[in-house]
Amino acid sequence: MFVQCARCSKEIEKHQCYEHQGKVFCEDCYMDILSPPKACDPWAVHSAQTFLKGKDKLATLTPLQRRIVDCLEKKGEATLEELMKNLNLTEEELRREFAVLRHMEVLRATKKEGKILYILF
Ligand SMILES: [Zn+2]
Repeated sequence: MFVQCARCSKEIEKHQCYEHQGKVFCEDCYMDILSPPKACDPWAVHSAQTFLKGKDKLATLTPLQRRIVDCLEKKGEATLEELMKNLNLTEEELRREFAVLRHMEVLRATKKEGKILYILF
């Protein structure tokens, strides 16, 4: 006598099946259900790798952050005032985005001839 696994639809012999919450499973599925693979969750690992990969992290930027990065890519370096003028943003808006971008290691600030310049990481 055979029964069908409720998860993978594999035919299993009745004496080899496992019951869980009123459903019948094969041994493999039963083990999976009892011990979900949390530590090696493929999506979590994928996200972490995406975040670490240099160029790919630019894909996670908001459109505004993207504009700041694009502007610095063209100019190489820029002061806060230049960026405010170029992007039509307030100082507060720019500083807020810089904090995020700095944390993501996309942008950093450097001092040159007494001026603070923003450059790509
Ligand atoms: Zn199964």
